[in-house]
Amino acid sequence: MPLVSTRQLLDEAAKGGYGVGAFNVNNMEQIQAIMEAAKDTNSPVIIQASRGARAYAQDNYLYHLMLAAAELYPQIPLSMHLDHGNSFETCKSAIELGFTSVMMDGSLKPDGKTPATFEENVEVTKKVVDFSHERGISVEGEIGVLGGVEDGHGAGGTGLEHLTDPDQAVEFAERTGVDSLAVAIGTSHGAYKFTKKPDGSVLKMELVIAIHKRLPKTHLVMHGSSSVPKDLQDIINQYGGKLKPTWGVPVEEIQLGIRNGVRKVNVDTDSRLAITGAIRKVFVEQPEKFDPRDYLKPARAAMQKVIALRMTQFGQAGHAGDYKAISIADMAKGYANGTLSTKPEVSAK
Ligand SMILES: [Zn+2]
Repeated sequence: MPLVSTRQLLDEAAKGGYGVGAFNVNNMEQIQAIMEAAKDTNSPVIIQASRGARAYAQDNYLYHLMLAAAELYPQIPLSMHLDHGNSFETCKSAIELGFTSVMMDGSLKPDGKTPATFEENVEVTKKVVDFSHERGISVEGEIGVLGGVEDGHGAGGTGLEHLTDPDQAVEFAERTGVDSLAVAIGTSHGAYKFTKKPDGSVLKMELVIAIHKRLPKTHLVMHGSSSVPKDLQDIINQYGGKLKPTWGVPVEEIQLGIRNGVRKVNVDTDSRLAITGAIRKVFVEQPEKFDPRDYLKPARAAMQKVIALRMTQFGQAGHAGDYKAISIADMAKGYANGTLSTKPEVSAK
């Protein structure tokens, strides 16, 4: 199947009542791990690359690896998404390269650090939406500001400083026409999300429920949603790592989100932990090894295992064969003739 639009994946997920994992990649082994997990669980999947990933891998390598994935797994609906575009130009360059969906994170100024005003966010996001929809590409916006910093992107903090306001979310969705909406509910990027198992004082799932009540048809996105499992932390530390104790977003909270409009769940840290633990284990147990395949193979297998588990937990498993790809050209027609709605359904408070 050719690369499809994230909008199609999320529309289907809404019909089926499940969430779709959006997994970050920087290299071939990570793409292979995700695609093997998708094949084994028969899952549609979103693969996403940040600006940092594009700089690390170079655009052309990334794009052609994604094309290879689409060729090798024709049965898997797969979209290629830009994570946290910081400006119109970044989104435009991703679309020109061949990404089938972009995130315009207008919650921050183009420096990727300073919170932007609501009006600035609306303006740049709307500009990206107009450009993208004309080309059949879907757009994720963000309202509220996430915590933490990852790949040099982020406002820092705990994630509680700029929580999403449901009224603003409604106005933002109406004025921009985004296909999906990332919300700030106390989650943060990176491994250090929470200092203890999160409760309602730091992880505001009730906000997801409130936003979903006002925007019942809008696809919501949870960022910073690795679960940072203890067993993966332990492997790293057992083999010489020095991770401080940390907690992620419990899977049952993500599942609560999925029952309340969350359709895209971003996961990066869990993959990083799985890879690093597996590599450390080889280095400690078999220090005589020096062929990169000796540690990259187990690293890839460890990532595949955690991704397959998330696919099952998010509910996307089993749904790869539910639908046929809509071409990007037909998506563009759909936006133009209104069959792909960009006007959110809004419920009264
Ligand atoms: Zn994010």
